[in-house]
Amino acid sequence: MNRLNNTGFKAYAVGGCVRNFLMGKAAKDFDVATNAMPESILNIFADCKTVTNGIKHGTVTVIVHGEPIETTTFRRDGKYLDCRRPMSVSFCSELSEDLKRRDFTVNAMAYSDGEGVIDYFGGLQDIKRGLIRCVGEPDERFGEDALRIMRALRFASVYGFSVEDKTALSIHKNKRLLNNISAERIYLELVQALCGKDAARVLDEFRDVFAVIIPQLEPCFDFFLYGENHRQTLWEHMIRAVDKAMPKPELRLAMLLHDIAKTSGKASGKLKSCSVHAEMSADIAGAILTGLKAPRKLIDKVMLLINYHDYPLNGGEGSVKRLMGMVGKENALLILSQIRRADIAAQNEVGKEKRLEELKEYEDMCRNFISTGVCVDISGLDINGDDLISSGFEGGRNIGVILNSLLDAVIDGRVENKRESLLSYAENIKNKKED
Ligand code: ATP
Ligand code: MG
Repeated sequence: MNRLNNTGFKAYAVGGCVRNFLMGKAAKDFDVATNAMPESILNIFADCKTVTNGIKHGTVTVIVHGEPIETTTFRRDGKYLDCRRPMSVSFCSELSEDLKRRDFTVNAMAYSDGEGVIDYFGGLQDIKRGLIRCVGEPDERFGEDALRIMRALRFASVYGFSVEDKTALSIHKNKRLLNNISAERIYLELVQALCGKDAARVLDEFRDVFAVIIPQLEPCFDFFLYGENHRQTLWEHMIRAVDKAMPKPELRLAMLLHDIAKTSGKASGKLKSCSVHAEMSADIAGAILTGLKAPRKLIDKVMLLINYHDYPLNGGEGSVKRLMGMVGKENALLILSQIRRADIAAQNEVGKEKRLEELKEYEDMCRNFISTGVCVDISGLDINGDDLISSGFEGGRNIGVILNSLLDAVIDGRVENKRESLLSYAENIKNKKED
């Protein structure tokens, strides 16, 4: 900014960095607005690395001390035709024009050392009151760019802000415009909204909006699992569960979707088995997240967490080890310490405290098994297929069957995980079979 000033241009920090600074938070990234045209910016920063793929819209990203600073010429946006992008942008000479095109009052402030905070729309007051409010007429602003709907919910959730009444009304009214927005963009905002500190409140207040993105949520809203007397709806359970998990995308998404099949499951009478509802929910979650163009690795993780969230643990140590063998040690710990914990904590039933205590025991077991390197899968056995074959066992499918029997026996404590003991145990199995 000093450099631009010294060359005779105006320059201001704008957007999120000003908002966060005024809230006493660190900035995620820095944006600078200036009356210098892109060519001048490039000249002034000729000695710096620059990125110019946004230059048509007036943006030159200047890398300063390794930090990318998006430096954009003051601009006003032309007409919007597709609910997302302006048809054209034109450069202008006034900061006020540039701030007017920004989405919310808290995002429409500027700062420079010389002029201090510039706040034409009452952004500072809205920060103090904790309000997300559109700059200008909400209907117009959401009509221009419907992604702003998701941005409003994201900021409300992340900062624990309310959405100002008129803005909120307009969001409900215009929610279907989200169908014009690309899945990738919606997904990025959704994940941030879910990881916010007020995710449950925002999910509940704008559940109709979230149902535009994820239609499968709607049947959960007024669904009582065990009839009207059950003390909370499936939806209430789902959003409480979101709240109880750590703010990580895979955990929050898993909690939001972990029971999503329960409405259809009950209808088709398939709910009797817990594992069936978990599996069905995992499949639905997979389809939803694929539609939202979420990264494949994250989809697989969420599906795994949901699939095993209700894994039966009544077998004590053995069942914890089996879960570990099935999903991997770290995933098992995640399921016990986060997913299962959030699920139980979000229930509304008597006996919850006792179930949480039991869960803590399973979690401690799991940690202990991880740190002592206990055998939970075939690779942890003190013997492998080649050992068996060289001891005279018939190769092929048979080897897998024997190794699995050995693993079962080790997990249940029927044989020690030592080469010699395992071999003689395997001999016994073979002899029994031959008998
Ligand atoms: P974050 O802390 O997540 O970076 P941010 O407010 O800085 O939040 P950015 O996407 O970095 O969000 O955008 C920078 C600024 O550009 C915003 O503060 C806002 O002024 C403006 N802006 C971004 N997206 C839009 C939009 N869709 N409509 C209007 N203004 C927008
Ligand atoms: Mg930003």
